[in-house]
Amino acid sequence: MITIDDFTLLPEGSRNTPDGTVVRCPLCGRNGVVVHPDQAGSYCIHAEESELQCDGMRTDPTDCCSLPSFARALP
Ligand SMILES: [Zn+2]
Repeated sequence: MITIDDFTLLPEGSRNTPDGTVVRCPLCGRNGVVVHPDQAGSYCIHAEESELQCDGMRTDPTDCCSLPSFARALP
């Protein structure tokens, strides 16, 4: 079973995802959730696909922006 989460539909500042707070993307102006994976740039995820598998939940971003690295240094 595949579930699509569309973060662009969520209001800015809402926290109903485990990943973080919904913010406005500095690149495209839509709402999304910013993630900071180790050893990689930041991403603003606008939509992701979750599939429940026998060994756990698999999540793939289907629509995201790569944020410039300098954005990580900003408060
Ligand atoms: Zn974006």
